[in-house]
Amino acid sequence: MELSNRLQLLQPSATLAMSQKSSELKAQGIDIINMSVGEPDFNTPDHIKQAAIKAVEDNFSRYSPVPGYPELRKAIAAKLKNENGLDYAPSQILCSNGAKQSVCNTVLALVSPGDEVIIPAPYWVSYPQMVLLAEGKPVFVEAGIEQDFKITPAQLEAAITPHTRALILCSPSNPTGAVYSSAELEALKDVLVKYPEIIVIADEIYEHINYIGSHASMAQFADIADRVVIINGVSKAYAMTGWRIGFIAAPEWIVKACNKLQGQYTSGPCSVSQKAAEAAYTGSQECVETMRQAFERRRDLIVRLAREIEGLEVNEPQGAFYLFPRCSSFFGKKALVDGREWTINTSTDFAMYLLEVGHVATVGGDAFGSPECFRMSYALSDEDICRAMQRINNCLKLLK
Ligand code: PMP
Ligand code: GLU
Repeated sequence: MELSNRLQLLQPSATLAMSQKSSELKAQGIDIINMSVGEPDFNTPDHIKQAAIKAVEDNFSRYSPVPGYPELRKAIAAKLKNENGLDYAPSQILCSNGAKQSVCNTVLALVSPGDEVIIPAPYWVSYPQMVLLAEGKPVFVEAGIEQDFKITPAQLEAAITPHTRALILCSPSNPTGAVYSSAELEALKDVLVKYPEIIVIADEIYEHINYIGSHASMAQFADIADRVVIINGVSKAYAMTGWRIGFIAAPEWIVKACNKLQGQYTSGPCSVSQKAAEAAYTGSQECVETMRQAFERRRDLIVRLAREIEGLEVNEPQGAFYLFPRCSSFFGKKALVDGREWTINTSTDFAMYLLEVGHVATVGGDAFGSPECFRMSYALSDEDICRAMQRINNCLKLLK
């Protein structure tokens, strides 16, 4: 018995797999510090939880409209106006089971077999997989640590062919923390203006975890706004990863297509979570800034500690909660630990070594299209960050 061709092409999510492995080791009683999965360590703020409790009590227990309740779509349109200065009607918003589904819906709605989708590398693990699911072809544009993990307009233009259907651009970026400034986005936009058939899928899920003071969106440029799909949601900004609410803000024809798709395979997202998300967007935004400040402090801490580790090359991320150091200076090195010989040839070997010898879970850069680096999530307490970096330093010293 065989799986479909489509599924055979698909790789499991390395971020979720590493997190699962770390939970298994923890269940065996091993003290693992988990820097693998990217999610805020904070609890969902109380006023948001109260709105969900009220929704349960008020019997919000039925199917919701496929694109989400009108109140939530209105709240999102208001957020886009007030925070981003963008004009979207509620009919241009579609809510899904997390931003992950929002990206996947968009890719499935737009990409036909053979279409090319430009994905800057390093990339979030799921983008190429979603393109493969649509039987499209991911086209990677490499941006290494020496260019702060950001692609240039010339690189973008060189990757465009008559088959290019879309560009997926994530800023602030997972896994690198790179943030495109307004001027940098504008320079990329100036290339895109010449190719009116290309859709921009702008993943802004880390919008609020930004250390440069302002967020820029591809949708702010009037000459391409009608072919930008904004991806966003409540997971990261409001510490709501488990509630599963994401959205797209897009031209109506794309919203309608995603609505049709979603209506056939998942329906509207969880009714109670939608009420919680509405409270997140309409309530006080103080919690967002409090968490952002904590992430910024931790960014400063982890960058300082990582720079003290010999052999790692570390840039300064400007957003999100990931550090993506280059670790390739350890490739070819060996260690003998408790009778077991370790050889580090790849970033996945490197991450496995850190997990099993150092008891720190990270993710090798291979899964992000950057085999020289590895990813650490610093959405952890200051104390755990210090402990993790000490452990990493100790076990890397054993490699010769
Ligand atoms: N885009 C990026 C870049 C992400 O890191 C994540 C987090 N998994 C998502 C989208 C999906 O977020 P959600 O939890 O809302 O599905
Ligand atoms: N975005 C998070 C990460 O990259 C969550 C895991 C996932 O959805 O892949 O770790």
